[in-house]
Amino acid sequence: MGLGQLVFFILLLTLHLFRHFGGHKWINSFMISLGQKKNIDLRIDSPYPSITQLNYEQEWKLKSQWIDLAIMGLCFLLYNKSSTLIYIEIQKYGIPYLLLSFFILLFLQDTYFYFTHRMLHIPFLYKKIHQVHHKSKAPSTNAAFSHHPAEKFIELLFYPLIILIIPLHPGALITFLTYSTITNFIGHSGFEIRKIPSIGKHHNKYMATTVFHEMHHRYPNKNFGLYLTFWDRLLSSTDKKYEGRLSNNL
Ligand SMILES: [Zn+2]
Ligand SMILES: [Zn+2]
Repeated sequence: MGLGQLVFFILLLTLHLFRHFGGHKWINSFMISLGQKKNIDLRIDSPYPSITQLNYEQEWKLKSQWIDLAIMGLCFLLYNKSSTLIYIEIQKYGIPYLLLSFFILLFLQDTYFYFTHRMLHIPFLYKKIHQVHHKSKAPSTNAAFSHHPAEKFIELLFYPLIILIIPLHPGALITFLTYSTITNFIGHSGFEIRKIPSIGKHHNKYMATTVFHEMHHRYPNKNFGLYLTFWDRLLSSTDKKYEGRLSNNL
């Protein structure tokens, strides 16, 4: 294993630990103090989770974490067999492609997530698999990675597939994974950082918000997107009350 691979591996492992042991409590405190600093109440109109809910989520996070490790192992195995399109030399495709590949990943994963997520809402699969995630009614960062192992497998399968299909630099991958982790935490936190004007001014209607995903937990047959509202808007699966809540900052 070369130095680059070792660094990549350590970063992935750190991210994994952050995902599975990053607690609701400290993200909650961070959001509250950030709001106080900015003199803005970042909380959305939703209840706080009970201790029972938080413990339930932590339990499922731990029960399904071995899937993350197995998928990570599969990606390394594919890479070592030279089956992937992962490249190390940035000059091979240039810096514009390196930046573009982040957005390609974002759109492709959102697309993959939207359709697999809708599939998981088929009553049989919902009852057997996806309802583990939906048991979290009140927003909680613990819920971000609290899933049935089968759901985790379906969602993470995106990674071994994508490294076979498009050229990706490890730097783009790790940046995207970090972005995905933070977005997932914030999306489940019950706090809306878009309320901070310097962040809110960059918001556009195709970017998913905390309210967007909170509504999915409340009304499970709407708002299926992960990072974007693109597919929900195109396929009319956005909750009708969403725009109202967004404009009222709730
Ligand atoms: Zn969720
Ligand atoms: Zn769902």
